[in-house]
Amino acid sequence: MTDYPHLLAPLSLGHLTLKNRVLMGSMHTGLEETGDWNRVAEFYAERARGGVALMVTGGIAPNAEGGVFPGAAGLYSRKDIENHRIVTDRVHQAGGLIAMQILHAGRYAYGKDCVSASAVKSPISPFVPRELDEAGIEKQIEDIVTAATRAKEAGYDGVEVMGSEGYFLNQFLVTHTNRRTDRWGGAYENRMRLPVEVVRRVRQAVGPDFILIYRISLIDLVPNGSTWDEVVTLARAIEGAGATLLNTGIGWHEARVPTIATSVPRAAFAHLTGRLRSAVSIPVITSNRINTPDLAESLLASGMADMVSMARPFLADPDFVAKSASGRAAEIAPCIACNQACLDQTFSGKLTSCLVNPRACHETVLTYEATATPQLIAVVGAGPAGLMAAKVAALRGHKVVLFDQASELGGQLNLAKQVPGKEEFHGLVAWFSHEIANLGIETRLGTPADVRDLMGFDHVIVATGVTPRDPQIPGQERAKTYFEVLQGAPVGPRVAIVGAGGIGFDVAEYLVSNGHSATLDPEVWRREWGVGDPAESPGGLREPAPEAPAREVWLLQRKAEKPGRGLGKTTGWIHRAALAAKGVRMLGGVSYDRITDEGLWITRDGAAQLLAVDDVVLCAGQLPERGLYDRLIAAGIMANVIGGADVAAELDAKRAIDQSARLAARL
Ligand code: NAP
Ligand code: SF4
Repeated sequence: MTDYPHLLAPLSLGHLTLKNRVLMGSMHTGLEETGDWNRVAEFYAERARGGVALMVTGGIAPNAEGGVFPGAAGLYSRKDIENHRIVTDRVHQAGGLIAMQILHAGRYAYGKDCVSASAVKSPISPFVPRELDEAGIEKQIEDIVTAATRAKEAGYDGVEVMGSEGYFLNQFLVTHTNRRTDRWGGAYENRMRLPVEVVRRVRQAVGPDFILIYRISLIDLVPNGSTWDEVVTLARAIEGAGATLLNTGIGWHEARVPTIATSVPRAAFAHLTGRLRSAVSIPVITSNRINTPDLAESLLASGMADMVSMARPFLADPDFVAKSASGRAAEIAPCIACNQACLDQTFSGKLTSCLVNPRACHETVLTYEATATPQLIAVVGAGPAGLMAAKVAALRGHKVVLFDQASELGGQLNLAKQVPGKEEFHGLVAWFSHEIANLGIETRLGTPADVRDLMGFDHVIVATGVTPRDPQIPGQERAKTYFEVLQGAPVGPRVAIVGAGGIGFDVAEYLVSNGHSATLDPEVWRREWGVGDPAESPGGLREPAPEAPAREVWLLQRKAEKPGRGLGKTTGWIHRAALAAKGVRMLGGVSYDRITDEGLWITRDGAAQLLAVDDVVLCAGQLPERGLYDRLIAAGIMANVIGGADVAAELDAKRAIDQSARLAARL
């Protein structure tokens, strides 16, 4: 008897049966653009072998004007079709099914040739789209239909027509972006004409035995977005036009509400899928912030959806379904929804990967082969770098001993998990702990390791982490470190934070919250971000009502720029907005003069000023802790140094884990 009877139940789509209820949602990985189709194929095949029922590719453009960026992958030539055939063949050999997403970006296309319903510029693009005329609309429909027939020719099992997230089809649906007065604008039956026509014509072109998923926006989270009645009207029309499945999308890309970041409550929007499910007859797929088999199972069991879509969790662990099905759910590497190695990289023009799984999208180049010469390896430091190095080395057959002076595994991950909105770090530490035990890695915790403890090992990996930078502010003995604060040291009602990097922001979040994380309380979270019900207000927006801050906080840095510029590309705005909503005053261009009993004296714009605070918290960055490494080298012991102990500047768990996995893969 499985723990996940609903998750693992088959689903008949008529012409074929899906083996379970799990869909790998579309992700733009950047792999197609490398031109290495073997690598693309291996990415999907590894996930097909891991048991997922159906996968959706990253968005493929139907034409040049609809590409998310110039040169975005499309299916234009015979050669393109042959390349995609490499992928579909490999997936089918692995026992999987795969649908190609057709993504027309409309006004989100990053190029001067972008087109839309009306010439309304998006706030996230510098380009004003060209308003399409009748012939132009017909061309877009034809191009989408052609992309679908080519997908079929390339061996795909279906297509997903992207109709959510504020892309082209979504732009026709709402008056926010559709100001037309012809048969494609005005009344809702006109505004929905395009998506319905697209689905009807795609179905006509591909025939009945082909999966056709339509991704519908359940809650736009933009002004003048769709009402719930409109969503239901569209869903029924899409069903009538021949869709097999309705996948769901949440929020436009320009929405000022986070929808997938780690601070979003798990399954925060699944209730809307449940509501839609009762209004249509075809299977409905739920999505957003679902990352464990238990959560997916409970959503299906409670009738919220027929299938669950997870995307990033399949970067973190391709074997999510196989492990769930074989009683090994604790072995699933958890997606912590950080976006650091996936979306942040994608939006920086880099290949996607995953913080907890550096092999993601590097399947053919980073492999963990069994070693022919097992060694006795010491890993010193059980933070993210040390944990990953120990795991990969042991996986490959080395005998590993893991040392840490702390009495628990996790290093700075244990600080991160104290921050409201970063609760997913608990799961990451639990997973690492499980893996360390499961792989038979010996742990020696609670005592510092020194040179004489490390003699007799074939190899030593030093992952001793970082030490806080000393900002040398006169009177700083009155201040507290972020370590002390995140470990629970008492802090007064007025606080100044020295340093506005990742940790300064985290400490500010911690201090303004009253010990209650909105991430764990969806109703509070919705109020804070102004998420309402699309049945009550178009687009599901309402006036944000943040909880009162627990403290008055100043967040300071010396650089003259706006604090928070160096935070994650796709999540920095969330941190800045969350703190601004709590009244945190963020100041750049500060110099620190002294700390006295009265507070923190600073100079800004040439004027001295007292911030009358009860506490000052130092978050001034880090320096490598590499004393042990230097002593080992002096003693002639073979060692490698990784993570923060190697380079502390701009260290994050992504770099630490990636570096350690690559080292351990070579030993
Ligand atoms: P950081 O991002 O490098 O920020 C350090 C801050 O200290 C900056 O605001 C910097 O701004 C200031 N600073 C530097 N030297 C200073 C000095 N001598 N005196 C006073 N202020 C000084 O470092 P971090 O905040 O420690 O974060 C480290 C990394 O960990 C980041 O990459 C972050 O993404 C990641 N992170 C880790 C965690 C965790 O829990 N482990 C949490 C969040 C983020 P000025 O130089 O302008 O003053
Ligand atoms: Fe999830 Fe972070 Fe990995 Fe992206 S990088 S898949 S958000 S754990």
